[in-house]
Amino acid sequence: MPELPEVEVTRRSMTGVLEGRTVRALRVYERRLRWPVPRALAATLAGRRLQRIDRRGKYLLWRFEHGVLISHLGMTGSWRLYPYGAAPERGPHDHVDLDFDTALARLTDPRRFGALLWHRAADGDVERHPLLASLGVEPLDPGFDGARLYLATRGRSAAIKQVLLAGDAVVGVGNIYASESLFDAGIDPRVPARRLGPTRCARLAAAIRRVLAEAIEAGGSTLRDYASADGAPGQYALQARVYGRDGSDCPVCGRPIRRIVQGQRATYWCAFCQRR
Ligand SMILES: [Zn+2]
Repeated sequence: MPELPEVEVTRRSMTGVLEGRTVRALRVYERRLRWPVPRALAATLAGRRLQRIDRRGKYLLWRFEHGVLISHLGMTGSWRLYPYGAAPERGPHDHVDLDFDTALARLTDPRRFGALLWHRAADGDVERHPLLASLGVEPLDPGFDGARLYLATRGRSAAIKQVLLAGDAVVGVGNIYASESLFDAGIDPRVPARRLGPTRCARLAAAIRRVLAEAIEAGGSTLRDYASADGAPGQYALQARVYGRDGSDCPVCGRPIRRIVQGQRATYWCAFCQRR
């Protein structure tokens, strides 16, 4: 599943090529994504200039003067970028072609849990869109630190791993990066969030920022056959220290990495290095 680093890598790889360019045409071959792609979208975008691509959580925000195209990759989605005239023949899971004057952005999504929606500028700030309004602070923004995480976890009796995944304390820390960050911070993933004091919250916030930044730097995850928009495969799988490594030696203490299930999601951790 594409996580925040993959979405950010996608954003960065498309930004330089597509920002400031004009949409020639939008072709929708399959409307039935998580929600139907709006029928008017092709007419809405044709001839319009893309100002900027931003990211909020795992949503890409394609900003035009008259509104914002909101896209999400769901479970299996990816955007690929092809130079103008160089796109291969469309495959069965290629559902949308966003055709610019210089390049083609193609949305592929075998399981179709992704989304492509339009938010009119006339309807106000896109941050207040129902999909975006309740998202937590961005982990890579300066506003996210130990004090913020400490406040957001008061009164939360759920395990810290699950509070991270919930996305309201901090957005975009998915399953892989939650395990990696908790290992980095030396915190037991099962500990109730409210038991973390200011010091451990500061350590965890710093770990989240470090782990995500390293993953973005490395080009995103290859735990599936994910590739960034310009076709370069990610590298993160080579750097995971605990995720998917149950039975292997902990890279810090040498004891075996364990796998447990929390809220139906796998958690990988070291029972010696990570404390309650
Ligand atoms: Zn260890």
